[in-house]
Amino acid sequence: MDNYLLKTITCPICNNKLNYDSNLKELICNIDFLAYPVKNGIPILIDTKARKILTDHKE
Ligand SMILES: [Zn+2]
Repeated sequence: MDNYLLKTITCPICNNKLNYDSNLKELICNIDFLAYPVKNGIPILIDTKARKILTDHKE
């Protein structure tokens, strides 16, 4: 995925930056704990399509 595009993508709920997980091919919102899927290089920024994630560890 395009790096510039990744940097400009924000969460539709909280408007914060999303972190791209290249392994899972998901865009992660660390504030809402949601993972948005990326299909064929196109991020699906729809909250009903997002997956709830659990983050019990911090870096
Ligand atoms: Zn968010």
